[in-house]
Amino acid sequence: MSFIYRCQECKREFSQKEVQYLCPICGSDYKVGMPLKGVLEVIFDYKKIAKKFDLEQPNWDLFCCVDRKYFPEYVVGNTPFFRSSRLEKKLKFENIWIKNDGLNPSGSLKDRASFLLVAEANRIGEDTLVTASTGNAASALASACAGGGKKAVIFVPASAPKAKLVQMRLAGATVIPVDGTYDDAFALSLQYTKEKGGLNRNTAYHPLTIEGKKTVGLEIFAQNNFQVPDVILVPVGDGVIISGVYKAFYDLQQAKIIDKMPRLICVQAETSNAIHNYIVTGEYKNAPHPQTVADSISVSIPSNAHMARRAVLETEGFSITVSDQEIVSAQKTLANTTGIFAEPTASSVLAALEKIQDQNMIHKKDQIVLLITGHGLKDIDTPLKYLN
Ligand SMILES: *Cc1c(COP(=O)(O)O)cnc(C)c1O
Ligand SMILES: [Zn+2]
Repeated sequence: MSFIYRCQECKREFSQKEVQYLCPICGSDYKVGMPLKGVLEVIFDYKKIAKKFDLEQPNWDLFCCVDRKYFPEYVVGNTPFFRSSRLEKKLKFENIWIKNDGLNPSGSLKDRASFLLVAEANRIGEDTLVTASTGNAASALASACAGGGKKAVIFVPASAPKAKLVQMRLAGATVIPVDGTYDDAFALSLQYTKEKGGLNRNTAYHPLTIEGKKTVGLEIFAQNNFQVPDVILVPVGDGVIISGVYKAFYDLQQAKIIDKMPRLICVQAETSNAIHNYIVTGEYKNAPHPQTVADSISVSIPSNAHMARRAVLETEGFSITVSDQEIVSAQKTLANTTGIFAEPTASSVLAALEKIQDQNMIHKKDQIVLLITGHGLKDIDTPLKYLN
């Protein structure tokens, strides 16, 4: 449980008491309008974990930053992980698995991060949590706050899918619709916590968001009989989920529990491709006009761009973009082949796998995991447009 924070950029180390959000040195260069600078990573005492961790009776608390006595009464995770022989028949790959994280309580993987942040709020005695979101992080925070008896203050683009807005309101959050983009909402939420206080849950801005999302990677490993899959496809917006998946396997590797990393595949929408371009060209540029049916990954300025890029490069993965047409088509294929109704964003990973099946980017026999990050009922308007 003991850990330190390390700045991803300058590698300076801090105790938990010294910092809360970004690296105080690198983060001071951060200005609204660019990816975050000085995002912190949690570094455990891996030697100690290596000694204590036992695959016969795995104690996952060793990889958790917040003592379980602070956990809210809100159960997340333990979502299904299974093989789909029907997808294998349709595609040119022979070993395809699904991690269905749309089955979290508020319907997305974001519940994992919100859960841990509410636990952290309990630890420090804070009663309000604040976030900006394209929708799911806000639904997740609103729900985790409801379960944990906290107040949620949420900045969200007014254009977010209705179901997500309904979730936030029913859970009792204070919802501030922003007449602008997610990036505008992000800036406003930072201003809010600076002036009014509250714990800021913005993705990557608070380092524990990465740790919360990490649990999906640990779960995949455990559900896969403690084997590392060859490839995991992840839908990428701000780049925190993919960094979390990376962190899970990094932790396991550092603790000498595994000796290889899965290849991480970054999937973005064509118009929301800042991280994709950064991976491919090595140069960072904002995505000027993200406009996609995949609303959960519609981001102009991805906050965790640097770490996401590293996750792909260090695992020898790659990045790919998919069009809206490919996404809605994959959404349909996923539903009528596996029975899983995923939101457009989450369906993008199947679109990507379909797109590369004739190229040699992934071996036919590799164990492939599609990370399904959000439930289809979050947004029925999009598929409705494509049905007669
Ligand atoms: C937020 C979200 C993503 C992308 O996660 P990032 O950490 O922003 O990259 C993918 N899928 C769904 C359903 C999401 O809500
Ligand atoms: Zn730093």
